[in-house]
Amino acid sequence: MLRTAFLGLGAIGTPMARHLAGDRFDLVVWNRTLSRAEHFATEHSAGLRRTPAAAASERDVVITCLPTSKDVASLLDGPDGLLASMAPGSTLLDCTSGDPATSRQIASRLAAQGVHFVDAPVSGGVIGAERGALTVMCGGDADAIERVRPILESFGQRIVHAGPVGAGHALKAVNNALLAMQIWGAAEGLAALASAGVRPDLALDVINASSGRSNATENLFPERVLTGAFPRTFRAALLDKDVGIAADLARAQKIPSPLLQLTAELWRMAHHELGEDADHVEAVRVVERLAGVALRAGPLPLGSSHS
Ligand code: NDP
Repeated sequence: MLRTAFLGLGAIGTPMARHLAGDRFDLVVWNRTLSRAEHFATEHSAGLRRTPAAAASERDVVITCLPTSKDVASLLDGPDGLLASMAPGSTLLDCTSGDPATSRQIASRLAAQGVHFVDAPVSGGVIGAERGALTVMCGGDADAIERVRPILESFGQRIVHAGPVGAGHALKAVNNALLAMQIWGAAEGLAALASAGVRPDLALDVINASSGRSNATENLFPERVLTGAFPRTFRAALLDKDVGIAADLARAQKIPSPLLQLTAELWRMAHHELGEDADHVEAVRVVERLAGVALRAGPLPLGSSHS
């Protein structure tokens, strides 16, 4: 049995942690806002811990799922920190969508006391997490990844070893940068079409049967934009962070990357305008505002054609 701790019961951490509840993983939980951990512990008969150190004590695997790698690093030090209680041979499994450079620093600090580090960001969203159908992109030593495989398989359907520590985070950031480009590009294109008198729902039908289709046009726009629902599942602030990581990665590798850099700038602007709590798809609202059109299903308002 792998004794586990889960730290970070947010939008995606909570459904991931649910798969670890029960006898198999002897789960204990910690969350910065304690009431969330109390609620989870009661609902799922998990152990409740009041500090990261208490959660990590006598655990084989400590899982983190926080906004950024800096947040993970902030849990390491002090009497309540992870370094105070993680035992040699145990593993920090970081499911944060983090940044490779900070992860390498965390890994080397943990290695100094014999603790392994695996970065294991996920894709598939909250629904994928609920279904246990996430893709997990791992960075780290192959043996360390094998040891935590039962945990990864509890919430993941596809487990990929991307490379050394930080490789999982790099791959995740580039994936999300592509998502950010797709959302922004579709919003601009559909706004131009609406302004020219072409209905967004009709335009999406055609695009989704043609070569311009993407996850944004096939799923996000029909379900969230045309309906005006804009549910909150993944914060725009987090996608801004991911695109920034991808843009930094390209710069660090000296890869010419004007599109990545521009995308990072656009999402920084959208994050600033939307605030901390807005969903990522709400960036479409920023494009709508700039364009003066609303991308909803149904007939366009009279006089909407500018051409
Ligand atoms: P949320 O903002 O919903 O939750 C963040 C969690 O981290 C909360 O439990 C929060 O605690 C905790 N937290 C925040 N800052 C700190 C800190 N400084 N110290 C300790 N705990 C902290 O984020 P998500 O669950 O959506 O995302 C978590 C990670 O997963 C991110 O890296 C994100 O990019 C990634 N991700 C998210 C997906 C999604 O669909 N939501 C999809 C794929 C990846 P508190 O309750 O106190 O606020």
